[in-house]
Amino acid sequence: ERGCNEEVQKAQRAAAERNGGSPSPPTIFSRIIDRTLPADIIHEDDKCVAFRDVNPQAPVHFLVIPKTPIARLSQVNASDTELLGHLLVTASRLAHKEGLADGYRLVINDGKHGAQSVYHLHLHVIGGRQMGWPPG
Ligand code: IMP
Repeated sequence: ERGCNEEVQKAQRAAAERNGGSPSPPTIFSRIIDRTLPADIIHEDDKCVAFRDVNPQAPVHFLVIPKTPIARLSQVNASDTELLGHLLVTASRLAHKEGLADGYRLVINDGKHGAQSVYHLHLHVIGGRQMGWPPG
């Protein structure tokens, strides 16, 4: 579909280069991008995909992910600046579309201490109820 597999392969080669030549294992999110795993996709463009979290923590909970499989936020570099901006702007626009006028929580979990479970960078957009602070 629309060259998605080709795009994913290109992105995986870029990710391998980023990791000093060692291949970055594709995660379940690569399969959502290339449509081999079903997901409730609410947005797609040339740089990212957004879909509803399978285990929602609030009435609205979706993920925004880059098509490029960057493993985690701590691996980004200056060349990712535009992409990261795009993910944030997309999260904001989708939050508006989802009716989160009273606000929402944006979360990026990184690594072990961040309780990251899928090593493909993703922004959680969580809303539709009052959040607490500090987070657990
Ligand atoms: P992390 O803990 O920040 O890595 O978050 C991973 C998120 O991905 C969790 O909230 C999971 O519920 C979600 N997730 C895992 N597999 C799927 C899936 O196949 N579809 C949608 N969401 C998923």
